[in-house]
Amino acid sequence: MACTTATGCQSTCYKNEEDDHQATPTPTPLTNSTKSPQPNPIPNGNHHGLCLKCKANHPISSASSGSGDDVRFCGDCFRSNLYGKFRLAVTSNAMISPTDKVLVAFSGGTSSRVALQFVHELQYKAQLNFEASRDRSLPVFGVGVAFIDESVACSVPSYEVIEGIEDIRQIVSSLAPPTKELLVFPIESLFSSTSTDGKDQLNRLLDGVTDATGKEDLLIHLRMLSLQKIAAENGYNRLVLGSCTSRIASHVLSATVKGKGYSLPADIQYVDARWNVPVVLPLRDCLSEELNMLCDLDGLKTIELIKSPCAGINSLVSSFVKLLQEENPSRQSTIVRTAGKLTPFDFNRIPEIIDTNVPLATRRRQKRYNLKPNESISTESFCPICNSPLSKSEVLSSTSVEDSHKDSHLFRVECCSSCQFQILPKDPISVDNFYMLLPQPLVSKAKHSKSDNLSILREQIEDCLLSDSEDET
Ligand SMILES: [Zn+2]
Ligand SMILES: [Zn+2]
Repeated sequence: MACTTATGCQSTCYKNEEDDHQATPTPTPLTNSTKSPQPNPIPNGNHHGLCLKCKANHPISSASSGSGDDVRFCGDCFRSNLYGKFRLAVTSNAMISPTDKVLVAFSGGTSSRVALQFVHELQYKAQLNFEASRDRSLPVFGVGVAFIDESVACSVPSYEVIEGIEDIRQIVSSLAPPTKELLVFPIESLFSSTSTDGKDQLNRLLDGVTDATGKEDLLIHLRMLSLQKIAAENGYNRLVLGSCTSRIASHVLSATVKGKGYSLPADIQYVDARWNVPVVLPLRDCLSEELNMLCDLDGLKTIELIKSPCAGINSLVSSFVKLLQEENPSRQSTIVRTAGKLTPFDFNRIPEIIDTNVPLATRRRQKRYNLKPNESISTESFCPICNSPLSKSEVLSSTSVEDSHKDSHLFRVECCSSCQFQILPKDPISVDNFYMLLPQPLVSKAKHSKSDNLSILREQIEDCLLSDSEDET
C-alpha cells in the first residue's frame, strides 16, 4: 500500500515488517484486513461481540486480530463515523460553501484518496438536493483534482509516471457525476515553460541544498507553490489537503525539532488562509489507520508514484509517532490536541463571503466562525521560502539590512531562521547561485514581503514617530 504522502513514512511503510510478527503480543496494525465472520470470541466491553453503535452487525475484526475502531464498529458504522468527522470539520469551519470551486490535492496516497472520496460524496449529495429542490436556488460547489508530478526530483522511470497518471485519471473519472476536472502539473513547470530547462533548474536548485531534511522541505514548499499556482490559474477558491491527525502530529514534533515553534500554530488548524487560495484540512480529526482501513474496506485504489526518502527528520519523526500510536491508540490525537491549544493566527479562518449570490443563511452561519468585516486577514509577514509567519525578531533583523546589498543577501535575511539554517547554503556565493535558480513566483513573493515588512514595522512604532510638521518645529 502507498505511503500517504511523499514526505514521510506515515502509516504503512512498516506494515510488512509488523505483519511478520503477528504471533508476538504487540498490537497488530489496524490495516490488517482480516475480516472475522464469527462473533467475537471474547466479549469486548459489554456489546457481546457486536458493533458498539448499531448492536446488530459484527465488527470488522475480532479482538484477537485488531485493536481500535475495527473491533468496535461494523463496516457501515465505521464508515459513517469517519465520514461524520469529515462533515463536522467541513460544516463547523465553513470550509465549503455552495458557490465555491474546490481543488483537492491528490498524491495517490490513502489520506488524499479518502479526502477525494468524501468531497465527492458531499458534492454528490449536494447535487441530489439541488435536483430535488423546487426553486434550485442553492448551487452545487465545483470540484477539481490536482496531481503534482514530482517524479523528476525522485527519478521515477517515465513509464511508471505515465501508468500512475493513467490510474489517477481513471479514479477521477469514476467519481462522477458530477464530473471533475483533473489537473496534472509537473513540478518543473514552476521554473520554466520548457520541460528540459525546468527539470535542469529544479535539480540544480535541490542539489544546492546539502541537508537531507532541507531538501525534502524545499520540495514540500515547491509542491504547495505549484498547488497554489494551478488553483489560482483555474479559478479555484479552496484547496483541500488530506492531512490527517497522524500527519499533523508528526508535523507538530518535526516543526518543534526544527525550531519553528512561532509559526507552528499556523500549520495545524482546519483552515489556513495565509495563501491566495485558502487551504482547508477536513481530515484533521481522522487517524491514518482509519483512512487505511477505509481504503481496504471499500477497495479505494491508491497509487505510490513517489517513494519517500527515509532519511532526515521528517521520516524519523513519522516513525517515532507511529510507534507511540502503537503503544497507545490515542497518542496522535493527544499531540494534536495539545498543540491545538497554541493561539492560532488571524488567517486561520475563512475570509468572510461578501458574494450576494450566496444564500443569507450560509453567510450568517459563516459569520459565526469567521472574520468580522473590519478585521484584516493578516498583519503578519512571511518567510519567502516556507511561507511561515515571521516572529518579531526575524522581521526586525530583515528590515535592518540596507537596500544597497545584493538581492540574494536581502533574500537570505528575509527567510525564517529555520530555512536559513536548513535550506539556504552557508557561503555567499552558493546563496547567489541558489537565489538565481529559484522559481519566479517565489522570488516575487520575497520582493513584496520586503516592503510589507517595512510598513508593518512602521505601524508598530507609529506612536513614536515624529510627523513631518512636528519635525520642523
Ligand atoms: Zn454497526
Ligand atoms: Zn522559512
